[in-house]
Amino acid sequence: MPKGSSGRTATAGGKNVSAENIQPAGREVMTTFAKSASNAVKRFPELKGNPYVNLHEINQADIKTPGVLAYYGIDSKSIVVGNKTIDYQDQSDFHPAGTGNLEGVVAHELGHALSYHQLPGFRDVEKTVRIAHAKYNRQTDGKLTRAEFMREISVYAAESTHETFAEAFADWSVNGIKASKASLAVMSSWRMSKH
Ligand SMILES: [Zn+2]
Repeated sequence: MPKGSSGRTATAGGKNVSAENIQPAGREVMTTFAKSASNAVKRFPELKGNPYVNLHEINQADIKTPGVLAYYGIDSKSIVVGNKTIDYQDQSDFHPAGTGNLEGVVAHELGHALSYHQLPGFRDVEKTVRIAHAKYNRQTDGKLTRAEFMREISVYAAESTHETFAEAFADWSVNGIKASKASLAVMSSWRMSKH
């Protein structure tokens, strides 16, 4: 759901988001998306060729819904980035450090593209966050509640488990191993261990 001036929508099927002039993304958005997708495949090779997630298509549009920077359409399986989002800058702790920008927005939506489909070999979002929370408390000898753990990733991550995953994914995608310990716990809990 759209939240505040920095909000991104999780968009179950793109509902409640109004966008006009949807067209294939321009070079800047394409390049940024290609980078995020390539990072994802490098780290999680199982994603390559997966029919549920389109790692090649991304669009741009005039998004009319206030506060929505970009969205992922579950039905269309494609990401739409607002034309104004190209210049987006947010330095607050609303998002993980370094992700309040186009690269972070695109990576966040790619996170949704991955989280909304049940991918073979990967856990669903609920289970991923549950396991990551336990792992984080073990690693840090901490006693964070689930909400506190989500807030460790970012303010927006505390919104829902889907936002937790998308924010952690953006953090890891932009910052690599320098992402927060909480984000890395989410990423490492996502893939099922091989037996
Ligand atoms: Zn989101």
